Amino acid sequence: MGARRFGSLARVLHLYDTARRSVAPFEPREDGKVSIYACGPTVYGPPHLGHGRNQVTYDLLRRYLTWAGNDVTFVSNITDIDDKIIERANAEERPWEDITAKCERVWFDAMDRLGIMRPQKTPHATEYVDEMVALIEGFIVDDVAYETSDGVYLDVSKVDGYGLLAHGSLEDLRSGARVEANEEKRSPLDFALWKKAKPGEPAWPASFGDGRPGWHTECVVMSIDLLGEGFDIHAGGSDLQFPHHENERAQAVAQHKSFANWWFHHGMVEIDGEKMSKSLGNVKNLLDLMEVFDPRAFRLLILQAHYRSPIDIAEDSMRSNEAALARLDTFARTFATDAADATSDATVLDRFRRAMDDDLDTPAAMATLFDAVRDANKTGDASVAAAALEIADALGIELAADAAEVPPEIAEKAAARDRARAAKDFAEADRLRDELVAAGYVVEDSASGTAVRAR
Ligand SMILES: [Zn+2]
Repeated sequence: MGARRFGSLARVLHLYDTARRSVAPFEPREDGKVSIYACGPTVYGPPHLGHGRNQVTYDLLRRYLTWAGNDVTFVSNITDIDDKIIERANAEERPWEDITAKCERVWFDAMDRLGIMRPQKTPHATEYVDEMVALIEGFIVDDVAYETSDGVYLDVSKVDGYGLLAHGSLEDLRSGARVEANEEKRSPLDFALWKKAKPGEPAWPASFGDGRPGWHTECVVMSIDLLGEGFDIHAGGSDLQFPHHENERAQAVAQHKSFANWWFHHGMVEIDGEKMSKSLGNVKNLLDLMEVFDPRAFRLLILQAHYRSPIDIAEDSMRSNEAALARLDTFARTFATDAADATSDATVLDRFRRAMDDDLDTPAAMATLFDAVRDANKTGDASVAAAALEIADALGIELAADAAEVPPEIAEKAAARDRARAAKDFAEADRLRDELVAAGYVVEDSASGTAVRAR
């Protein structure tokens, strides 16, 4: 698929870069190919709402770049060794590998339900320990890192431009840093490349003492290994800007390697105006949220804010997004046949592209989508409808247009569930629901009875 062109000019995505501190025209390392590395989860518990936002945001970036004609390589790691994993393993007296394996399964299952495209590569920290040990040995030889009784630390005073992502000088950062108990560290900003193992902790062999790698080291090693020097975009939440990303970058600089060309940071999640609140009832994590609400409504909510703004999650906004989805589903069913044969309206797509090329202005893109839906509903214009459906697809909004694709035995089970419910045989209705879910369908109660769609 070649780059999309409108008129004689190829439009260019303008994207905010945290290092430049401005929106600038995005130019990939290689024309038509975009490489992205996003910091992935530490697998020790269920995904929280913030994870949901970050995954939808990366998914959006990836889908849009793909829609615009680029070949996108997306790599996201799994941190499968970390203090929190060890703490939980010790508290529950379970092998740490059990926890990481189970949490990783839960993670990908949840992200599938959210409609997130899986990364092409998911490197695990434990697969890269040898490379990390070699890197740290090199740093010690070059005298940019030093050993203490509990680990190996990078000396950030030896790194040019430390503070680029934190947006502060070394002096500013040092005066703002928390003074720690560790007196062996030369500066509070120096960070652990390696943690020496305490008794009973998992450990890998190293010349500077058996132990485990620090979190900041895995990402720099894996991203450069899989995407090469000077890869295009490094993504993460604004909470990772400093110290995590600063410290990843510091290690690339210390190796004299070029690192990410673009730093993409998204905003945080709030719950009804606060970090924690009772407004979402029992929703404590992403799994709970997807039990209570249509997972697609969460995507819609995220898309209606700019990716760099904080978002607020409240029950009423989730419900109004579910209502918007129901209208979009109806629209998709109405126009499924006509739109399939039509060419997407160029004016509508152009407006969508202008919004997205302006630092992924999804609120404007969503307004374009809803305007096109309204317009097509009013005029019956199949080209406008096709453009609306193409935009929804480019944004990863999966619409339930394919009612006809549900196989007859599934439709029969859904009908049987309605009969069981009418007869107040709720045990049988629940059993049929479980069967439908097990067969890979999302089951919803609609005004006309059980509605099913493929997950
Ligand atoms: Zn990272």
